[in-house]
Parts: sequence; C-alpha cells; structure tokens
Amino acid sequence: MKHNFGAGPGILPHEVLKQAAQAVVDFNGIGLSILEISHRSPEFEAVLDEAVKLVKEELGVPAGYSVLFLQGGASTQFAMVPYNLLPTGGKAAYVESGVWANKALKEAKFFGDVEVIATAKESNFTHIPKDFTVPADAAYLHLTSNNTIYGTQLHEFPASPVPVVCDMSSDIFSRKINVADFGLIYAGAQKNMGPAGTTLVIVKDEILGKVDRKIPAMFNYQVQVEGGSMYNTPPVFAIYVSMLTLRWLKAKGGVEAIQKENEQKAKVLYEEIDRNPLFKGVCVPEDRSHMNVCFLVENPEHEKPFLKFCEERDIVGIKGHRSAGGFRASIYNALPISSVYVLIDAMREFAEKNK
Ligand code: PMP
Repeated sequence: MKHNFGAGPGILPHEVLKQAAQAVVDFNGIGLSILEISHRSPEFEAVLDEAVKLVKEELGVPAGYSVLFLQGGASTQFAMVPYNLLPTGGKAAYVESGVWANKALKEAKFFGDVEVIATAKESNFTHIPKDFTVPADAAYLHLTSNNTIYGTQLHEFPASPVPVVCDMSSDIFSRKINVADFGLIYAGAQKNMGPAGTTLVIVKDEILGKVDRKIPAMFNYQVQVEGGSMYNTPPVFAIYVSMLTLRWLKAKGGVEAIQKENEQKAKVLYEEIDRNPLFKGVCVPEDRSHMNVCFLVENPEHEKPFLKFCEERDIVGIKGHRSAGGFRASIYNALPISSVYVLIDAMREFAEKNK
C-alpha cells in the first residue's frame, strides 16, 4: 500500500474504501447498487440522515443550524456565500490568507463591495495575517481556516462583531471547533470527509433570508435547507462515502482523538524538517498547518532526486502545489502516523546519502 500524502482528493481509510466498493455492487444486501437506487428510497434517506447526524455529533453543531450536503465544490460556495449573505450595496470583509481566500473574495465582488481587511500576499502567504479590525458594518467576515497550498493554519479564530463565514475545506473534522462562533462553515469533502462531489455547509438559520435579491433555487441556501439537501438529486455516492468516513472517525474516538493524532503527526514531521540540514520549512512556525506540511530543500538540485527517492519508498503525493513549489506532505485524518515515520526515515536516509 502507498503512503498517500496527496493534498486532495486525499487519503481515505482503507476500510471505508472496502465498504464503499461493496456497496457499489450490493448495498446492504438489498440486491441493488448504491448507485442505482432512488435518492428518495428509505435506504438512501437513512444514509443522508446518518451523515447529517454524524456531522452534528462530531462537531457539536448547536440547535439553530442546518447541515447541508451540496454540489459544486467549495468553489461554488465562494459565490453562494455572497449571493445569499451580501446585500446589494453592502460590504463583506475578507482575510486574504491564501490563494483560495483570494478566489473567494473575487467571487464576492460580483455581488457587492469587498473589503480585504488583511492580506498575507506580501509574504507569499507564508503567515496568517492577524492584525486587523473587522468593520462592524460588514455583512460578514470571511476566513479560510487552513491554507492548503502554502501550509498555514488559523490556530485561533479572531473575535468578530459580524457573522463569521469560514472555508474549512482542508481541516474540517481535524480538530475541535466551536460551531456557535460561526455563521456559516463550508468544506469540500475531498480532504478529511470523503470523496470529491459533495460540499458540506453548516449554516446558522437566522443569518439567511436577509438579502432582497432573487436567488435561483440551486444557489439558495433556504431552498436547500427546506429540501433537506434534496431539492434535486444529491450526490448520493459522495454522501454515502462521507457518511462511512464519519462513522470511521466516530469509532476512532471522534474529533478530539483525531486532533491529538494530527498534532503528533505534525509535531514529528516539523521536528525533522527543522532538524535535517537538507530541508527547511516554508511558513512561519507559529502559523504552520497541521494538515499540509510544506517544506523545501536547501539545495534545489536535491528536489527531483528526493521525489524519486520517495517514490521508490511508496511515498506519493508530496510534490508541492504548482504555485508554491517544493514539497507538501498532507497529513489528513486518514493518514496513519506510521506513514509519517516512513517519510521521516526517507528524509533521514536521503540526508545521509547526500552529506
Ligand atoms: N478552499 C480550499 C481551502 C481548498 O483547499 C480548495 C481545494 N483544494 C478549495 C477551496 C476548492 O475546492 P473545490 O475544488 O471543492 O471547489
């Protein structure tokens, strides 16, 4: 088996993949595939209900919030958020902490004024901007909890006088959060929750219905809430595999247990990066991500040989994003610490050979 450090779609638990494979052939012994039953069948409704219940349990979602499984990826949320929450003539505050935040704010500009209240552009997104004031007249504050490409993470969320909208695509379910601090959370499934094809949205019901523009049904959160994520045919298989992954997470002890594991994985890997003379970290230590560990080689000539060295050891997916270069080891929930140690051993061996 490979050690899958890919940034997304990312590693899924092997047992989840096996159950999903079985359900493609025969779902729960009903003699039909999960792919060929009605989304309104009691069998699929039970899947969706369980997925919603597990999200609520694992994140401690309080009353007054709706949990949705939508389509279109997190990128559709970049537009859907302002479509639903930014009144015409109003303004939204954005923290530009990375490339995805930048894409989100560009979409918001279609709907109203966007105030970029802080940016990390000047450091090429290698730190989290922290010095800012959230304008009290903004419709919402938009944050990105984890910067997947450059490997920074918000370890503390800023206080805000206005509802906080957060893109948690690359660290949802990796650590405890207080959902009550947010107006809306969204996350593409394909890192910590399941396969590509569904996007989790957790929205505080009372922030909806405050803009007066007309919103087409598929882009309207209220329509999606009323339809229970079934206004149209939902992405049944992506929801099913997400549900299985959430079951797996629960059986492992839930978010609290996985957070400890994730912290340990990140700790040992960063320690090696800091200790090993051939490598160096990309981001400022205090903002380093516990999900996407980005690092460089001191000598650029070592880059290709190290990638090959890793491949020979079944370590895959560590090439950095095309806009960041270097390496990126994504250590999502399903990646066992044993894989991190295989990478650490490879770094040590490589350094030994290239002294
Ligand atoms: N936000 C973040 C933080 C991401 O990492 C990604 C994808 N890697 C996206 C948004 C875009 O997600 P999608 O491809 O689901 O539209």
